[in-house]
Amino acid sequence: RQATDLNVLADEYLRLAYHGLRAKDKSFNATLNTHFAPDLRKINAVAQDLGRVLLNLFTNAFYAVQKRKEQGQADYAPTVSIATRQLPDGDVEIRVRDNGTGIPEGVRQKIFQPFFTTKPTGEGTGLGLSLSYDIVTKAHAGTLEVESQEGRGTEFIITLPA
Ligand code: ADP
Ligand code: MG
Repeated sequence: RQATDLNVLADEYLRLAYHGLRAKDKSFNATLNTHFAPDLRKINAVAQDLGRVLLNLFTNAFYAVQKRKEQGQADYAPTVSIATRQLPDGDVEIRVRDNGTGIPEGVRQKIFQPFFTTKPTGEGTGLGLSLSYDIVTKAHAGTLEVESQEGRGTEFIITLPA
């Protein structure tokens, strides 16, 4: 464990995810919005593990905007946002939001289960969110929540204790 600046970590992994996708698919494009709270405290964390959590959230978000783009709505602008916030009680919060496909009600209950995926074979293992849930809640005593509206987008919210 080490004192970890989540602003730096999130920025690093956002670029990694974005450029990784662009390298595979030159037509991939999305607007990235970032808000990194300047007063964010460092947390005691296994940075590499939290990095994997963020990488999966970003990859899922990019996948969802790409899927929605394929639906062909002319004025659709794929956007992925990340925001960090210092909460008054000392916890830190990270929100990853996309304006992609959203998650249907019936699917939402299953997304944290191991091996649950709606992606074609080879594109998803269904392990990302179940591992992320354990890393955030068990290894770091934090919380991982999701809010989603089908056809509008999804937001994942992580809180981690100081
Ligand atoms: P995988 O990405 O391998 O499918 P995950 O555990 O990361 O596995 O995600 C599980 C499922 O949750 C995805 O297959 C998808 O159906 C849904 N999901 C996760 N994130 C998003 C998102 N941002 N937008 C829409 N659906 C999502
Ligand atoms: Mg995933």
